[in-house]
Amino acid sequence: MQNVYEVYALRYATMSPRTPNMNFLSPDPHETTAQALDYFVWLIRGGGRDILVDTGFNAEEAQLRARKLTLNPVDALSGFGVAASDIRDVVVTHLHYDHAGNLDRFPNARFHLQEREMAYATGRCMCNGLLRHPFSVEHVTLMVRHVYGERVIFHSGDGEVAPGVTVHRVGGHSDGLQVVRVETARGPVVLASDAAHYYANLHRRNPFPILYNIGDMAMGWEIVERLAGHPDRFIPGHDPIVAEIYPRASEKVDAFALHKAPSRSFAK
Ligand SMILES: [Zn+2]
Ligand SMILES: [Zn+2]
Repeated sequence: MQNVYEVYALRYATMSPRTPNMNFLSPDPHETTAQALDYFVWLIRGGGRDILVDTGFNAEEAQLRARKLTLNPVDALSGFGVAASDIRDVVVTHLHYDHAGNLDRFPNARFHLQEREMAYATGRCMCNGLLRHPFSVEHVTLMVRHVYGERVIFHSGDGEVAPGVTVHRVGGHSDGLQVVRVETARGPVVLASDAAHYYANLHRRNPFPILYNIGDMAMGWEIVERLAGHPDRFIPGHDPIVAEIYPRASEKVDAFALHKAPSRSFAK
């Protein structure tokens, strides 16, 4: 088969405890406990390429936001046998602090970003504290530097990173949020990033409360489902269930093989 890739979720941090109102815009009043939030970057391997999806945050940013950093994503990558300097393509799903840190750690990479995300993160909405909160001005400034250094590949809507690896703007959570579709031996896997923090955000059609546009968010779930073509082939961005149901792929770091079948199915 042509252009099939391996896909790994690398977990680098976690946050708990959380309450239902932190995970759902409209929380179920009967629920008293809520899932922890895991933080991942994703590695796509195949055809002689290593493509990184998102770059996580570093210890400094973790401290600023009182998050627990298990290890820097760059160290998670090297524990998995991949040097940051070997990465040629980085897809940045959106510019929130937990997806777009460490942008200075990939000296040979080009960064794939939606045009609207750069405009959003540098435009008038950033004058509002609530909308600005998930962004780090240091990360956004570094991305501006990469624009000036001709290291950013802008996509508008749908775009291709490599044969069988495509990006698709969904917006909603952040104006230029994009998801990544990867051809694997079990069919296309969609890295939904924050189009669905948890499986339950998409299943219940109930968004995570950080939102730019609720209509786009709702349409984004449809896009993710259509791109994946099967309920077991979309991967939420922050759900600890991912680490439970996908096979562990390393003894050194928390890596999980998403191109393999999960131990639990969401198909009805
Ligand atoms: Zn986000
Ligand atoms: Zn996130």
